[in-house]
Amino acid sequence: MKIGIVGSGLVGATAAYAMVMNGIGRQIVLVDLNKERAQAEADDLYHAVPFASPLEITAGDYEDLAGCRVVIIAAGVGQRPGETRLQLLGRNATVFKQVVPAILNAAPDAILVVATNPVDIMTHLTARYAAQMGVSPDRVLGSGTMLDTARFRALLARHVGVDSRHVHAYVIGEHGDSEVLVWSMVAVGGVPLLEFCNDRGITWNDEIKAGIENRVRNAAYHIINGKGATYYGIGSALARVVDIILHDQRSILTICNPERNVAGVEDVTVAMPHMLGGNGVIGEHNPLSLTDEERSQLHHSASLIKGLITDLIE
Ligand code: ADP
Repeated sequence: MKIGIVGSGLVGATAAYAMVMNGIGRQIVLVDLNKERAQAEADDLYHAVPFASPLEITAGDYEDLAGCRVVIIAAGVGQRPGETRLQLLGRNATVFKQVVPAILNAAPDAILVVATNPVDIMTHLTARYAAQMGVSPDRVLGSGTMLDTARFRALLARHVGVDSRHVHAYVIGEHGDSEVLVWSMVAVGGVPLLEFCNDRGITWNDEIKAGIENRVRNAAYHIINGKGATYYGIGSALARVVDIILHDQRSILTICNPERNVAGVEDVTVAMPHMLGGNGVIGEHNPLSLTDEERSQLHHSASLIKGLITDLIE
């Protein structure tokens, strides 16, 4: 199976590395405006292959994406310290206008996975440009709040002392400042969080809750201040998305995909729990029983993204 990565900077190259180390796919093609960089990354990654799984990795041009099953789009300009994801919008929108048609001309059947921030808006734009070429929105998705959801689960899991794979919790909405942590639905092994803590004598209070929320919300800022960029988490998330598609796993993830209606906001793209399989996103997002407060937070988040999309398109 052939996978394309357009934009082989830190995120794109790390996604490729995660695929090599996990034996995902059979051939990876890196495309970047900076051809020297793409070639160097492909060579460096290829030297990891003997220590992992057999895979072919090359640098190429858009036409070399022909036959790709999935193409990850991680092209663009990185987030600067102190800059919000939304401030990246203008700088990255221009790049996508040429990148999306170029990919689809070469690989008309590919599923497009967007990682560039602000990911909700970039995914919305990608779906729009793809639709102009007859591609259904099911075949366009963004990494959304996969990472935020992973951070939320990991922190909850650490607090309750349970394998994070048995903690169910979602972060939905914008991948950014207005994201919504769905506290009301947190469950450990199917048991509501408060009940689980009470039964096991685990301390739970507003201070612990606020601490977890704060760490989930500010993780990206904290990492960018410390090392300039985030890429291991997102690179691993992208590799997982590719694996799910290649194996038609029907996994449920908080990815972003064009939505008809999110908490009363129409025609918007924000992260919601979606089932993902071999042909892309399956059906509408899963229904969530949100509290009134969560629904109003989600409405705010979706409205904010919708406003930016509208500004951008007009
Ligand atoms: P990140 O941390 O998000 O990966 P980087 O700056 O490391 O950010 O990587 C972004 C990559 O996108 C760079 O390698 C850059 O050359 C590439 N890029 C920028 N514009 C384009 C474009 N129009 N087509 C392909 N690649 C692009």
